[in-house]
Amino acid sequence: MLNPDTNKSTGGRRFILPLVFIGAMFAVLWWRAPSADDHGLVRDQFAGMTMGTTWSVVVAVEEGFDVSGVDEAVADALDGVDLAMSTYKPNSELMRLNRYPVGSVMKISAGLRRVLEKAAEVSAATGGAFDITVGPLVDRWGFGPEDLETEPTISEIDSLLLRVDWKSVGLSPEGASRARDGLRLDLSAIAKGFGADMAATALEELGISRYLVEVGGEIRVRGHSDHGRPWQIGVEKPDTMTRESVAVLGLTSGGMATSGDYRNYREVDGKRVSHTIDPRTGWPIDHRLASVTVLADDCVTADAWATALNVLGPDEGLSLAKEAGIAVYMLVRTADGEFRPRMTDSFADRNANRRESDEGNPS
Ligand code: FAD
Repeated sequence: MLNPDTNKSTGGRRFILPLVFIGAMFAVLWWRAPSADDHGLVRDQFAGMTMGTTWSVVVAVEEGFDVSGVDEAVADALDGVDLAMSTYKPNSELMRLNRYPVGSVMKISAGLRRVLEKAAEVSAATGGAFDITVGPLVDRWGFGPEDLETEPTISEIDSLLLRVDWKSVGLSPEGASRARDGLRLDLSAIAKGFGADMAATALEELGISRYLVEVGGEIRVRGHSDHGRPWQIGVEKPDTMTRESVAVLGLTSGGMATSGDYRNYREVDGKRVSHTIDPRTGWPIDHRLASVTVLADDCVTADAWATALNVLGPDEGLSLAKEAGIAVYMLVRTADGEFRPRMTDSFADRNANRRESDEGNPS
């Protein structure tokens, strides 16, 4: 990553695998599902753009159910999250908090409070592996709104680390505050999951109780699909060259999120530099864990834990997940370029396909 002599980077190219591929992959799974006639349910699908990525929704409703309000309700829910939590919109609630005078308390919305509380909970549980104040490092490694070409020097990293500390985000009944100068909050690793939860709430307010919501690859489901089985969701093979899933899960409730180094990375001297930064060192993660998928009761929790466990890596991450009872499925790169699955029992237990068939890995 860094040229040891000059301590200067040699620049790099940034890759962001078009997340629409995710939607296509799920579409492939949906289309393969049998028709809706045997359960008196029909399937309707909706899609759009949000937070620099795609969203898609599939609902299974009774014949004649009015779905005309779905598109707008989901888009409004996601726009609300974008306006509150974007680091790409200068006047989002989060960016106003990032500019608010240090030490002063800014009144915040219920949604932003929920996400800041969840972020602090996961930061505390993971020893700071998840840290929403990692923004300055994310930006300087070229993964923020500006496409920076150079990589930071070691001394830059050390000074940026002084501005990273999740414990310096103050939360009180009156609002939120930043306790340290230069603190810059970045919710990219948790807000999309919250968006999937908000879209699910919008569907339930319309009286829909069988749905699959996907926002930039983060998932929230409820009930069974139109053919009466759990929603079938693929875990992608973490390989930018292929379009296949390595496991298909059956889910009927909760959230699913995946964090990996194969969708959004920079290539420097032929080496992949991840957009996930270890806040404890200031460096992008560099281990054999290619992707980590988490299942939880909601998607905001799954999203934050997926990034945290991705930072911790295949060994420390898996043992913490087991200890904390987190349902996790890891794909670890082997020396010969294959991917070896590792998972916690609670992950296997949440997979309805497995309950329907016998033993073994997610089918
Ligand atoms: P994840 O793998 O879930 O998380 C990685 C991201 O989290 C990194 O990109 C970094 O920002 C952050 N991060 C890295 N390390 C850590 C850590 N240790 N702890 C906590 N966080 C960490 N992109 C656009 O191009 N245009 C937009 O307009 C735009 N708007 C957005 C609005 C919102 C509200 C959000 C949440 C994101 C927006 N994005 C936008 C970014 C984009 O949607 C994705 O969030 C980004 O590409 C990373 O997605 P991911 O699932 O790969 O991230």
